[in-house]
Amino acid sequence: MEEKKIWLSPPHLGGNELKYIQDAFDTNWVSQYGSNIDSFERTLENYLGNNSFVTALSSGTAAIHLALRLLNVQEGDFVLCQSFTFVASANPILYQKAIPVFVDSESTTWNICPNALEDAIKYCLKQGKKPKAIITVSLYGMPFMVDEILEISQKYEIPIIEDSAEALGSKYKNKPCGNFGDLSIISFNGNKIITTSGGGILISRDQESKNQILYFATQAKENQDYYSHSEVGYNYRMSNISAGIGRGQLEVLEDRIIKRRENHRFYRDIFEKYEEINLFEEPNEDFFSNYWLNTITFEKKDSKITKEKLKQVFSESNIETRYLWKPMHLQVLFEKYKFFGSNVCGILFDKGLCLPSGTNLTDGDKDKIKNILINLKD
Ligand SMILES: *Cc1c(COP(=O)(O)O)cnc(C)c1O
Repeated sequence: MEEKKIWLSPPHLGGNELKYIQDAFDTNWVSQYGSNIDSFERTLENYLGNNSFVTALSSGTAAIHLALRLLNVQEGDFVLCQSFTFVASANPILYQKAIPVFVDSESTTWNICPNALEDAIKYCLKQGKKPKAIITVSLYGMPFMVDEILEISQKYEIPIIEDSAEALGSKYKNKPCGNFGDLSIISFNGNKIITTSGGGILISRDQESKNQILYFATQAKENQDYYSHSEVGYNYRMSNISAGIGRGQLEVLEDRIIKRRENHRFYRDIFEKYEEINLFEEPNEDFFSNYWLNTITFEKKDSKITKEKLKQVFSESNIETRYLWKPMHLQVLFEKYKFFGSNVCGILFDKGLCLPSGTNLTDGDKDKIKNILINLKD
């Protein structure tokens, strides 16, 4: 018999999603308008706090693209971007025909390194062009070094686009991720901590920029009796059906964060006993991670357990694992662009692995994972 597959981070429905979809059908709001969208946006605004204006969009990638658009990023402009990330952080830079400049990670949070960032900024200034934006990422749910990076952003007056695609529920100094950018994004793709089946939000800091985002997300339609356009726009709004799923998912968000953090403790108990394997953890009390994915690094080159071996052993038991994100500066797509740093993220990529971290992992699944890891050690 085929063993049940254990996935890295599958969707986990809460129970009320269908009810909200039914509402949309009952009221015939099966479009990009309706009460699910309104409620989804409002609930997120309350969750994120004060200064957050939320626009629901078709994806996190669309949100990053509109963020660049709002900051007027154009052909030939420099945009600084964390190299260690999923390609969706950087693709929208190319949509705008701008020039990505990639920045290394520091080894504490695995996110954008303040020193390398400053080197990159100085390089751009030397070329006679101030970068239009800094794209920071909170990878695997770990917040970046917020204070240090915000200070650099202020010093050089370069706005931050905070890619918190993976970090809903994470906090820095008690403030939720999604608060740290001039514009911030969160993804609700199927593999994230909660999902709308596919979707994202763009968070801005005032009503005026929210209006602008809505305008660009709905084909840049001007307020006339006929269809009037003078700028290029996009069809990027979230549907009221997807927002219904999101509404149901927001009801269980707190529970999902607790479960992900429980998964982390499960792995911590196992890896405490390994000298050669490190579980990636919060560096100190300022950082609160949703532990979207648990990741380990293999710290001994000559160890008999390698990431390839572990991946294969898990795969034989129908358990999914993944290597870490391959940095953008090592991708063929971006090989002609500049990179600043000492390849901290390339080394992490070489020695790291992501482990199953879904909130629907059962005790049975955990036993299976634990037995494999313990047998491997002996
Ligand atoms: C998932 C993800 C995105 C893109 O979000 P989509 O909703 O899938 O478009 C962007 N950045 C990072 C770091 C992600 O993990």
